[in-house]
Amino acid sequence: MDLSDYRFSAEPYYRPVGHEIALYEHAYAHRLPLILKGPTGCGKTRFVEYMAWRLGKPLITLACNEDMTAADLVGRFLLDADGTHWHDGPLTVAARRGAICYLDEVVEARQDTTVVIHPLTDSRRKLPLDRKGEVVTAHPDFQLVVSYNPGYQSSAKSLKPSTRQRFAALEFDYPDATAEAEIVAHEARIEPALAATLVDIARHSRALRARGLDEGVSTRMLVYAGVLIRDGLPAAESCHMAMTSAITDDPDLRQALQDIVDACL
Ligand code: ADP
Repeated sequence: MDLSDYRFSAEPYYRPVGHEIALYEHAYAHRLPLILKGPTGCGKTRFVEYMAWRLGKPLITLACNEDMTAADLVGRFLLDADGTHWHDGPLTVAARRGAICYLDEVVEARQDTTVVIHPLTDSRRKLPLDRKGEVVTAHPDFQLVVSYNPGYQSSAKSLKPSTRQRFAALEFDYPDATAEAEIVAHEARIEPALAATLVDIARHSRALRARGLDEGVSTRMLVYAGVLIRDGLPAAESCHMAMTSAITDDPDLRQALQDIVDACL
């Protein structure tokens, strides 16, 4: 596996919102496993990409899901014309070669899958490949980072305490209004005034969380709306498509969101 595909040749755009860069650097200096906590679409993935670039390390990202097995992480024997051969999974590749491994939405994976990361997250920094009969010692540059959204997880999908206590945590939230408008203007390539209006909609929508909306409009949704507007689609329709229609199936909440959009535009 050629890890050059997993290196960033250009700096990913990341707008810091606090001193998370310094905190990450301290964590990385000690190779502490990290949990990034925060709502969907608030910048966690972009932050890890930026940090991987800044530290000059390859980044191997995996979106977790409930069908994921331990073999999907560590690897498996596969049959080809010459017989069976072992293929390292992405976690094993990262551990052997010294990449940062980012498990996005880790609670989506079943708990019996997640336990394979345990030996990598304590002082042993080892990964047993039981089927192959090998124990991989992690490369000195290897770091494990996971993300999860504490907001809407059911109790069936939470991190086991024995997993959670192996990680240091960085908390994320949507950026403050000035930073978020800057991000949206940059990412969607729109005027600052329009970006500020979109952020205003998002901030009002987030108040609806108290009325049953699982999540408010994310920074990512604002970027989508901005891109559609830049493309020439009327602002109201862009917001409907990228935000109100996308975020909920509940007609009352959708109407409430639509009212916010109409009032802000
Ligand atoms: P998460 O991983 O938290 O679900 P992402 O990192 O994918 O969210 O963020 C969604 C989008 O929002 C990114 O693609 C980027 O355009 C934008 N974004 C959010 N926060 C930032 C930030 N602080 N700096 C730069 N872009 C950001």
